[in-house]
Amino acid sequence: MTSKQEQSPAATAVPDTVENYVGGEWVSVDSDDGQPLVNPATNETLAEVPFSDEATVDAAVQTASEAFDEWSRTPPVERVQYLFDLKSELEDRQEDIAQALTREHGKTLDEARGEIRRGIENVEVAAGIPNMLREGSGNVQDVASGMDEHAIRQPLGVFTAITPFNFPAMIPLWFLPYAVATGNTFVLKPSEKVPLSSQIIYEAIDAVDFPDGVVNLVNGGVDTVNALLEHEDIEGVSFVGSTPVARHIYETSAKHGKRVQAQGGAKNYAVVSEDAELEEAIPNVIGSVYGNAGQRCLANDVVVGIGDSYEPLREQVLDAVDDLTVGSGLDEDTDVGPLITGESAERVKEMVEDAVDEGADLVVDGRDFEHPDYPDGNFLGPTLLEGVTTDMDITQTEIFGPVMALTKADDIDEAIEMVNSTQYGNASSLYTENGAEARKYRYEVDAGNIGINVGVCAPMGFFHFGGRKESFFGDLHAQGEDAINFYTDKTITIERYYSH
Ligand code: NAD
Repeated sequence: MTSKQEQSPAATAVPDTVENYVGGEWVSVDSDDGQPLVNPATNETLAEVPFSDEATVDAAVQTASEAFDEWSRTPPVERVQYLFDLKSELEDRQEDIAQALTREHGKTLDEARGEIRRGIENVEVAAGIPNMLREGSGNVQDVASGMDEHAIRQPLGVFTAITPFNFPAMIPLWFLPYAVATGNTFVLKPSEKVPLSSQIIYEAIDAVDFPDGVVNLVNGGVDTVNALLEHEDIEGVSFVGSTPVARHIYETSAKHGKRVQAQGGAKNYAVVSEDAELEEAIPNVIGSVYGNAGQRCLANDVVVGIGDSYEPLREQVLDAVDDLTVGSGLDEDTDVGPLITGESAERVKEMVEDAVDEGADLVVDGRDFEHPDYPDGNFLGPTLLEGVTTDMDITQTEIFGPVMALTKADDIDEAIEMVNSTQYGNASSLYTENGAEARKYRYEVDAGNIGINVGVCAPMGFFHFGGRKESFFGDLHAQGEDAINFYTDKTITIERYYSH
């Protein structure tokens, strides 16, 4: 009999097969349905991604369901021992995950390494669950004469998370550690565009040796997701992805009586005030727009300069854009990697073209960028549009590419009106040293995450990560205390005794 380590699909650092993980075993998916996984820098095939059908999903959910009883009765102090081990196993594999992540997604190795740290941070936070379970629980003695009332948090059953392509190592870990720490069992469905990071995360899970069935993985596409949403033994659904799919997940999960938290797309603005420390602001502004090749839900791709800040802002942005190096994420000097697919690159190019048709000035045009060493990659050079207005599509629709739209406002009120003009409410940043202006911004901007002199305002694991408007469907967000509330229900016990 082989050990669990030997059964793992990848003895090498970067897996070349994609398998499910069900009941503590790696399982090959028996399916004709699937798609190739390609390296976006080269368009070379890295692996085949199998799509799990309804029966395969059912088997995984059944296994998780059977594991629930014993796991939910395992004391939280014992459950978190697995998370301490998981942190260590993930840390041992950080570089493997980074290498796989860069190959499947395209982001730079530094970005990949930073992403994994943010994922592991959630394992660390969830390891504090015994203490966190006390929050929101409580007792009141003598609610009536001789009668006491208690609220006790309890896990609910099997939860699933369906995750997007842009942070494949971090986003599954917004959910998995909290779900299992609170005593639930779990099934992950990662993005079919980037399944390799999850393969290595599950190698770490396999090495930790969670009780069979507590933590499961199914690969697949749309049908796989819908089988999860409709499965009667799934108690709750966490989702991160685009807004139309988030709405579908929210509606379908609710229709099937499940808890649901669905994080959607975004359109974020940054505002640069006349009181900003411009030299400090510029790297933040640039990193937010062009980092991860613009493929992040916290990218502030519309940048508004207030009054006299505009000209120096424009000048320094132009210099910084000129310094950006486009290339494979595996090359050390790369700042901007490829987009996830050729279709994504085409979509972004069309958005730029449409913006020009609507009257924007194309100051830096990266559309024809070709990399001499990677002629088949999905590259776009950093692109800069100027003179945009809030009635243009480019200022209202998520770009998800390395494109900045620069514009001006006369004052902070006009800037805030622009920020709030979109249907989304994920994030926004203000660059200023003026505290009163910052307070006004935080007060009046309708977004879940605000950065003051911070370009990518991604909350730490012990705070929740949420959005508003069309960026979020549900009420309890990912991470932190919201995660504990999402993954538990509070049972009220009212008790009285007659013999004493
Ligand atoms: P996507 O919506 O295309 O896919 C996300 C997941 O949904 C994948 O696992 C995919 O298999 C599944 N899916 C896709 N279409 C489906 C359908 N019709 N029915 C059921 N399931 C379906 O998103 P993406 O392109 O992978 O990710 C990018 C999007 O995610 C962007 O809009 C970005 O803003 C958003 N995002 C949001 C946050 C946030 O915190 N709000 C964080 C990261 C990414």
